[in-house]
Amino acid sequence: MIPFLDLKAQYQSIKSEIDAAVLGVLGSGQYILGEEVARLEQEFADYCNVKHAIAVNTGTSALHLSLLAAGVGPGDEVITVPFTFVATVSAICYAGARPVFVDVEPVTLTMDPAQLEAKITPRTKAIIPVHLYGQMADMDAIKAIADHHRIPVIEDACQAHGAQYKGARAGSIGASGCFSFYPGKNLGACGEGGIVVTNSDDQAKTMRMLRDWGQEQRYHHLLKGFNYRMDAIQGAILRIKLRHLEAWTEARRAHGRRYSLLLGGSPNLRTPVEVADRRHVYHVYAIRSRDRDELQRVLSAEGIQSGLHYPIPVHLQKAHADLGYQAGDFPISEAAAREVLSLPIYPEMPTWHVDQVAAALEYAYVS
Ligand SMILES: *Cc1c(COP(=O)(O)O)cnc(C)c1O
Repeated sequence: MIPFLDLKAQYQSIKSEIDAAVLGVLGSGQYILGEEVARLEQEFADYCNVKHAIAVNTGTSALHLSLLAAGVGPGDEVITVPFTFVATVSAICYAGARPVFVDVEPVTLTMDPAQLEAKITPRTKAIIPVHLYGQMADMDAIKAIADHHRIPVIEDACQAHGAQYKGARAGSIGASGCFSFYPGKNLGACGEGGIVVTNSDDQAKTMRMLRDWGQEQRYHHLLKGFNYRMDAIQGAILRIKLRHLEAWTEARRAHGRRYSLLLGGSPNLRTPVEVADRRHVYHVYAIRSRDRDELQRVLSAEGIQSGLHYPIPVHLQKAHADLGYQAGDFPISEAAAREVLSLPIYPEMPTWHVDQVAAALEYAYVS
């Protein structure tokens, strides 16, 4: 069997470091926030080349706090894409705002800047591009439009730890950037976790209060806040893993390059494109094919796991039917939902597994 992902392999490769860090927290008596989380914040901010990082309990909370810090509230509109994990849209709803969708562009499946301006209204209070699969959206074009209308950009970088756009790290270009540490993400906790990065002193201060019941000092609640704090154990584990992230990212990129080399000539599928000047960190390696379902069946028959990210765009999800969108509204997203197929990829994946997956896809075409 070739698994889609193997979280145990990563743990085994750094077991002694992780075990020591966890035992350290258990002995410390400090189980929420504290020194380990504060250090993670400093180290992750440095990693992203930004001034502040605020650790929280999930990537969804990171998005929610970013929206609140940007002043988004009931009656406002927030523009994002329908081809994303549902959490991007849920966070907008948590803030009481209305999600407004703009389609993705066909090559990277990230926000299409050419369709963005037409969606802006006087009520638009934020724009959330999603750095899908680990490749950043076209930030220059998006920022130019957003800046012209004085609308803050919030980066959904939940799949893009360490990705770059013209040398700038994911999360460092917008007003804030949101990351998830869900176990399967490129930097994953052993449980839930997330973080927001920003260069704004004011927004950092607001988000720090909001994640911890809106208090400035204990029992002095300046804002209506939340319990979005990070556990100390996750902070300690993530600090260890952050030291390995660059090596893991390079391993993902090597697997991505090998897949693209082996599959590049296949007539019935398209490999993902790494745009010039963007560093793709391959959270997901998604091929596209009109025969997607058939290819998935062939892989499955060979004992190879694969995934669909995502089979239904958010505008067609029942939960968001109240937004009033219909099939046909976002054709690029809808075609992608029918055609994408995510192949196994993770840093510890043996190279011969990459070769086997590619061979199985080649065989699917021949037979
Ligand atoms: C994972 C993910 C989220 C949510 O992160 P959680 O930590 O699971 O709350 C949001 N947006 C995108 C694009 C994601 O992939």
